[in-house]
Amino acid sequence: MTETRRKIFLGVAWPYANGSLHIGQVVGAYLPPDIFARYHRTAGNDVLMVSGSDCHGTPITVRAEEEGVSPGEIASRFHEEFLESWERLGISFDLFTTTSTDNHASVSQDIFLKLLERGDIYEGTMTLPFCTVEGRYLLDRYVEGTCPHCGYEGARGDQCDNCGRVLDPIDLVQRRCKFDGSEPELRDSRHFFHRLSAYNDRLRDWLAGKDFWRKPVVNWARGWIEEGLKDRAITRDVTWGVRIPVEGWDDKRIYVWFEAVIGYLSAAIEWADRSGDSEAWRRFWQDPECRHFYFIGKDNIPFHTLIWPAYLMGYADAKGEPYNLPYDVPANQYQTIKGSKASTSRRLAVFVPDYLSRYDPDPLRYYLTATMPEMQDSDFTWTDYVRRNNDELVATWGNLANRVLTFAYRNFDRQVPQPGELTDEDRAMMARAEQAIRDTGEQIEACHFRAGLEAAMSAARDANRYVEDNAPWKLIKEDRERCATVLYTAIAAIAGLNVALSPYLPFTCQTLHGYLGNEGPLQAVGWRFVPPQAGQPLAEAQPLFKKLDPKIVDEEEARLGA
Ligand SMILES: [Zn+2]
Ligand SMILES: [Zn+2]
Repeated sequence: MTETRRKIFLGVAWPYANGSLHIGQVVGAYLPPDIFARYHRTAGNDVLMVSGSDCHGTPITVRAEEEGVSPGEIASRFHEEFLESWERLGISFDLFTTTSTDNHASVSQDIFLKLLERGDIYEGTMTLPFCTVEGRYLLDRYVEGTCPHCGYEGARGDQCDNCGRVLDPIDLVQRRCKFDGSEPELRDSRHFFHRLSAYNDRLRDWLAGKDFWRKPVVNWARGWIEEGLKDRAITRDVTWGVRIPVEGWDDKRIYVWFEAVIGYLSAAIEWADRSGDSEAWRRFWQDPECRHFYFIGKDNIPFHTLIWPAYLMGYADAKGEPYNLPYDVPANQYQTIKGSKASTSRRLAVFVPDYLSRYDPDPLRYYLTATMPEMQDSDFTWTDYVRRNNDELVATWGNLANRVLTFAYRNFDRQVPQPGELTDEDRAMMARAEQAIRDTGEQIEACHFRAGLEAAMSAARDANRYVEDNAPWKLIKEDRERCATVLYTAIAAIAGLNVALSPYLPFTCQTLHGYLGNEGPLQAVGWRFVPPQAGQPLAEAQPLFKKLDPKIVDEEEARLGA
């Protein structure tokens, strides 16, 4: 092998462990990195994909207070559920940890102290809303009100869901306590701040080289810089979170948005420790050849394109060591449902455990990729899900594979038929499958996941046409040798397309790999076209996908909130 093994690091958004995952989160931040990681692993590259449950912050404490249990209990309940969801959806993390580990706390505290020593972090005073009914400071999500930027009335104290701006609670107009509706008083409190303003120019220069990013992402990041970056408070008046490593600050904690992004580094260190080579993280974080990709939804763009790079720049300077900055941040727009942003509280969402209790993972992965909101918002509907499952996945791909393999199995001694001389048409069909592998790979490398799927599916449509045109079920009676050649060609095309589709449909592609008579993981084939061996035994194929009854649409819509 002369080809070099490229190093790829994937940082995946840390979901708050405060409720079940819904498919809007899956399509936004979890399915894209899984496709990307599976492709790169199959291509033989060195991949590290990490994330974990965000166990801190008000989304957790609000739910804990509502249920009357500890925040830790909420976090561990949903962390366990997330692990099961990833497994069943095939989201192939190398490590999915949590922010509640000692390792994460010590890495976060080290970065905090290094930035404090070099003056990137300083002490100051923050004005905070204080609930006089409950006698406590109200953090971000404990306060609701009107967004000062867009006028949306349901904005939360950490962010406006309507315009995507990051907010502080005191930015809100007409503030109210989430729990008792009272208007909070404003009081001063001592806190630590991160000097983000000092990074305006360095971030602008760095972003100048990012014209290849998705337009909405780079435009958004540059827009914030032109407005002028502001220093941000990075501690809070809470007792749930990572301790501040400075004496006299026991009653406050590091803010979740300071430490959660540090999880990308701390998770890599934990992964290395678990692998038995505690220095292994350095090849991903300190080799400048390793490219870092961050997979997030659009609401997280400022944290990954500005704030986290600024921490890394300061930390690298303080340590005198390199730390890789993001290479690309292919953030997605939103997938709405019935035209609205998914809402857990209104149950306007399709929850992953609920979906998986009735349907298979690959059809969801297929549908979500085909409608992925890469450049603009897209909308989930059950009607479209059923249509794509039946018309595309079942009719185009599943039936092609099943029909050809079953016919060969029954008529050619349960083996890949021995072909006669190949015609130009046969060779063109095989070349088409080989080209689909290349095209899909190129699109995935560029984070164009929809286009990659379409490249494979359009070759599947051509393969169907090839089989229709050559009609092996007629040839079997007239010209057995030609029939064998056509089936051989079709099986070769199917094997090739199975490689191209494998990052998208990992479960059914592995099953099909077995029907084609192979043992071991499909990934071991590599990202290349390998024609089957004539005479190789086939296994008896079963349908890969189920046709769905359109009447499930009404049942599923009835389950959704409004
Ligand atoms: Zn209150
Ligand atoms: Zn807004």
